Amino acid sequence: MSTPPIETPEAWEPATQLIRGGLTRSLYGETSEALFLTQSFVYESAEEADARFAGTSNGPQFVYSRYGNPTNQMFEEKLALLEGAELCRSTASGMAAISSALTGLVQAGDHILSGRALFGSCRWILDKHLPRFGVESSSVDGPDLDAWRAAIRPNTKVVFIETPANPLLEITDIAEVAKIAHEVGAKVVVDNVFATALYQQPLKLGADIVVYSATKHIDGGGRVLGGAILGKQTLMDEAYKDLLRHTGPALSPFNAWVMLKGMETLELRVDRATRSAAALADLVADHKATRRVFYPHRKDHPQYAVAKKQMSAGSTLLAFDLGTQAAAFNFLNALQIVDISNNLGDSKSLATHPTTTTHRSMSEEERLSVGVTPGCVRLSVGLEGLGDLSRDISRALDAA
Ligand SMILES: *Cc1c(COP(=O)(O)O)cnc(C)c1O
Repeated sequence: MSTPPIETPEAWEPATQLIRGGLTRSLYGETSEALFLTQSFVYESAEEADARFAGTSNGPQFVYSRYGNPTNQMFEEKLALLEGAELCRSTASGMAAISSALTGLVQAGDHILSGRALFGSCRWILDKHLPRFGVESSSVDGPDLDAWRAAIRPNTKVVFIETPANPLLEITDIAEVAKIAHEVGAKVVVDNVFATALYQQPLKLGADIVVYSATKHIDGGGRVLGGAILGKQTLMDEAYKDLLRHTGPALSPFNAWVMLKGMETLELRVDRATRSAAALADLVADHKATRRVFYPHRKDHPQYAVAKKQMSAGSTLLAFDLGTQAAAFNFLNALQIVDISNNLGDSKSLATHPTTTTHRSMSEEERLSVGVTPGCVRLSVGLEGLGDLSRDISRALDAA
C-alpha cells in the first residue's frame, strides 16, 4: 500500500520547519541534532581529499569548519527554510553577518544608502569603517520615500534597511524602497531582527539579502552570539562565499547547536511574547505617565499602514516616551520582575534607556533626529506571565 507523499519541507508550516527542517542524522540515528565540535575532517583516501577540495565529492563536502560544519549546516538549512531563502550562511554574531553582508557588495568608489535609525554598530561601520576603504554612505529618514528617491545615487550599490528599527520601531516600506534601489542596480539588504522571519519575509518583498543577529529571538535564551546572511544562491556565492571562507567570521558549532535548539521553540516564544507586548503596549498607552507609545500594529503608530502591509504581527518589542530622563529612570528603577538590560529577544523581559546606553555614542542632535528623546524606554517582552508583567509595569509607571 503506498502512502501519499508528504509535502516538501518548503510547504510545511513554520512550526514544522523549525522542528524538522535541516535535520541530518548521523549513522547513530540520534533524536536531537548532533553537535560536531570539530575543526577539521579526515578523508578515506588521497583521492577523496582531492575530490572534497575540488567540490566534486559525492559524499560529505566538509573540509574545515571555517568553511562549513555539519551542525552549522543544519542551522543554516533550518533558517533558510523558514525564510524562504535559497541559501543561508551562518556567522559568529549579528555584526559579523552585517559587516560581511555590506562589504561583500561594495568596492572603493561605491555608495551605501541607509535608513537613519540603525543599530549603533551598523552606524559605526557605515560612518567610520567603510570610508577608510573609499566607500561612502549617507542616510535618510526611513519612512520618507521621497527622501530615498532624492538620496539614491548612480553609484549606490547597497541600500540598507532596518525595519522595525531600533529603538522606536520605526517602519520602512521594504517593497517601495526596493523599487527605488533596483532602478540604479543597488542591492537591498534588510536587518530583520525585530520582526523575525515569522512576521516579515523581506526577500518576498523585493529585498536581495536578509541579515540576522541570531543572538536575539533565534537563541531566545540569552546564551550565545550568532548571525546569518540569507539570499539567492548566485548572489550569496558571488558576494560572500570566498569572503566568509577567507576572512573567517565562522559561527562556533557549539553556538549553532544551541541555536538549533532555540529555533525549535521560536514560533511558540515569539507568538507568546508578541501577544504580551501588544497587551502591554495598550496598558502603557493608557497610563497617565506616558506621553507616547510605539508599537507597529497599534493604530497610533506613525507607519501603521505600512506595518500592516508588510508584517503579519506587531513585535515582541515596544517603546514609549515618559517625558524626561528622570521619569524613565524612575520607571526602570521601580521594576521588580523586568530586568534593566540592553539586550532583546530574550525569554526574560528586558527594559533599556536608549539615550544613556545603546544610543549614547550618538550626538543629542542625531538621537533627536531618530526620535530618541531622554524619556524613551525600550521594552523587550519575554515569556513571564502577562499578569505579573502587567502589574510590574503598572507599578513602575506609577513611580515614573
Ligand atoms: C543585536 C542586533 C545586531 C547585532 O547583533 P550581534 O549578534 O550583537 O552582533 C544588529 N542589528 C540589530 C537590529 C540588533 O538588534
